[in-house]
Amino acid sequence: MKEIKLQRDYLKKYNKPFVISGPCSAETEEQLLETAIALAKTAKVDMLRAGIWKPRTRPGTFEGVGKEGLKWMISAREETGLPVTVEVANTTHIEHALKAEIDVLWIGAKTSVNPFSMQEIANALKGTNAKVLVKNPINPSLSLWLGAIERLENVGVNVLGIIHRGFTEFGDKVYRNNPMWQIPIELMMKRPDLVMINDPSHICGNRTMLHEVAQKAMDLNFDGIMLEVHRDPDNAWSDAMQQITPQRFDEIISALHIRKEKGENQQAAEELHDYRRKIDELDKELLSILSKRMDVVRDIAQYKKSHNTTVLQKARWEKIISRTLELSNKLELNPDFVKIILKAIHDESIDIQEKILNR
Ligand code: PEP
Ligand code: MN
Repeated sequence: MKEIKLQRDYLKKYNKPFVISGPCSAETEEQLLETAIALAKTAKVDMLRAGIWKPRTRPGTFEGVGKEGLKWMISAREETGLPVTVEVANTTHIEHALKAEIDVLWIGAKTSVNPFSMQEIANALKGTNAKVLVKNPINPSLSLWLGAIERLENVGVNVLGIIHRGFTEFGDKVYRNNPMWQIPIELMMKRPDLVMINDPSHICGNRTMLHEVAQKAMDLNFDGIMLEVHRDPDNAWSDAMQQITPQRFDEIISALHIRKEKGENQQAAEELHDYRRKIDELDKELLSILSKRMDVVRDIAQYKKSHNTTVLQKARWEKIISRTLELSNKLELNPDFVKIILKAIHDESIDIQEKILNR
């Protein structure tokens, strides 16, 4: 079997992402084997995945083949030499998966969100030599994610790394699960020892943006990628929209541009240093301008207080937005990005005025 080299130092040294791939669900032995063999042929996979027990959002959909599928995973390992991983969500799953000698267990997003479940899982794994990956909880809480990892580590479980699969959001959206990159970035800073794997399939929920998201993860110094691949994606029993063929998988992984964490030579390092100094200076300027802007907001609040007018004046706010968006086009700034910043500034400005008016 291919060795599981999930260590940051190793992966960084060879500058190669750790790639986990396979179908969303194991459906039949044949489907799993055919997909696994095609994946192994690409020589771009380090571990085979498949869901055996599926935590589906709504009942009445395919909920996985259950422990029967574990045998198929082992056959796939024998056939391809790839280590295998499945999702576990409770004590029974863990018992079956460990008994079947599955190489790595992953905890899904709908489980890592629940501290009771995580504690139960930690207790069941205590004293075993299981290797575990922890997906982010469905809601955007870094503490909850860290808490899930800590519950496992507190009882001595070997947490190999984490999987970033994005966060649930209500309403129209670009992504199935909003990546909110700042959360895994913060986790990376708090726990530089953990291997960070990105799951573009569950972030995108479709096939069109997979490469873009995987590339962004590489640019942000993630260590690996998890991609859902099916021999016949359109007819998959779960997550059909986001699964791709082994061939498309090969194209996406081949097209990834893997950058080095540090530049090649001294000159490159100095150049980067210069750019960073510029950025630091500009950040300082940005803050100082914001501070000046808030000073003016305080003066305005005093004026509104003495003239007894409302804080929010709709026409004025609309004018600010349209004027700023016009300018952002001229300055080649993304208007969506500018809108987010403007809104944050405006919210803070209202808070400041509120405090002054009601003092
Ligand atoms: C999966 O990987 O198939 C899965 C169920 O993912 P998540 O826990 O991210 O929803
Ligand atoms: Mn899936």
